[in-house]
Amino acid sequence: MSMKSAVLHRHLSHDFLPLAGGEGNHLLLEDGRRIFDASGGAAVGCIGWGNERVVQAVTRQMLAIPYCSTVFYTTKVQEELCRYLVDSTNGNMGRAYIVNSGSEAMEAAVKLARQYFLELSPAQDKRTRFISRRQSYHGITLGALAVGGHEYRRAKFEPLLMQNVSRVSPCNAFRGKRPGETDEEYVARLAKELDDEFQAVGPDTVCAFIAEPVVGAALGCVPSVPGYFKAVQAVCRKYGALLILDEVMCGMGRTGTLHAWEQEGVAPDLQTIGKALGGGYQPIAGVLASQRVIDVLQKGSSVFVHGHTYQGHPAGCAAALEVQRIIQEKNLLANVQAMGALLSKRLHERLKNHPNVGNIRGRGLFWGIEFVADKEKSLPFPVEAHVALGICERGLAKQYSTSVYPGTGSADGIRGDHIIIAPAYNVRAEEIEWIVDSVGRLIDDFFAAGVS
Ligand code: PLP
Repeated sequence: MSMKSAVLHRHLSHDFLPLAGGEGNHLLLEDGRRIFDASGGAAVGCIGWGNERVVQAVTRQMLAIPYCSTVFYTTKVQEELCRYLVDSTNGNMGRAYIVNSGSEAMEAAVKLARQYFLELSPAQDKRTRFISRRQSYHGITLGALAVGGHEYRRAKFEPLLMQNVSRVSPCNAFRGKRPGETDEEYVARLAKELDDEFQAVGPDTVCAFIAEPVVGAALGCVPSVPGYFKAVQAVCRKYGALLILDEVMCGMGRTGTLHAWEQEGVAPDLQTIGKALGGGYQPIAGVLASQRVIDVLQKGSSVFVHGHTYQGHPAGCAAALEVQRIIQEKNLLANVQAMGALLSKRLHERLKNHPNVGNIRGRGLFWGIEFVADKEKSLPFPVEAHVALGICERGLAKQYSTSVYPGTGSADGIRGDHIIIAPAYNVRAEEIEWIVDSVGRLIDDFFAAGVS
């Protein structure tokens, strides 16, 4: 069932399924069908749907005060949420700034980085550049798009984007590692590429290097190889630039630790978070700033020259606090680790020999399957075949009833089709079996029907 829409959807000529509700890890359609939500939308849902505790926490806050103008006021929920976030970083981060979307968080991080250098010393005024990575995604607003490396989403707006951004290769072992190259050699090569880029643009002109610890939608759940983040942080330190880690998609527990950087042996100077922060119950995201950044801002003008009408929104903070309490009380990060290991094992067993499955990778409950036209040559499908989108669409048919996410492969006109599997943190072993079975059948049937 689909409906004619008055909404300016992203895909203007696409049919949409009317969603009536959510129950646990299922989505309920208006026509009564139940779809297993194996990706929480775009890795947003993390405690499932219809959680009474979160709904009540938001309702209580809405009745108490739904809005807080942040020039003069604060709320207990905002203070508690920011305290929780800062305390979760083992002393690495000093303050949190709450906004409504990952893109807003990235905009704020970019401006915080620039302002940090201005407050540090007038001589740092020349720091106006950013280095990020190709095939990255940091958001859809102009600043976030500018620092991202998503060519398709940037293309039409290129003349509007700030130009002081350059990009280096992502750390993607499947596509980037040379035959016979060790992890250490690959890391050293990527660190040198970054170092060379600093040298090329002028090392004292760079504010920050920006990267996702586990690349989400732009590559499909690609973790870096061991040692990569330590190596790139060393390059940033060498030139006095900041390290901004974008954990909008991979953070807040998705990879098995609350922050993905905990598994990399580094702590960022600035960090963005979103999606699983509020688990989809309210639009909420944020930036965490390290004490180093906060100290400089405080010694300077002590004002962050930025602000949104709805920053620190009380309903969003209430939702996020309750979602995070549930994650902690129910020890869901341990479940992410255990169920993540099971998902990895079962996906590999079921799909690693499939002729069109090129690579299965991920961390925690954040897994990507990349498809290839030719397995031996790791050749991607042509963009026009829209393989990832086709698989996800087919997954919604009655015989599979499983919602997986097309990343931004063919759905966004770029090569390297992949789907993302990112179930809620409370997923059970039998549900993992169900996901692997239905996704396995779906992939078999999709390719058996032929790709045109
Ligand atoms: N950064 C990353 C890594 C993301 O995956 C996304 C969204 O997918 C964003 C930033 C932008 O977040 P939002 O869509 O909430 O603006």
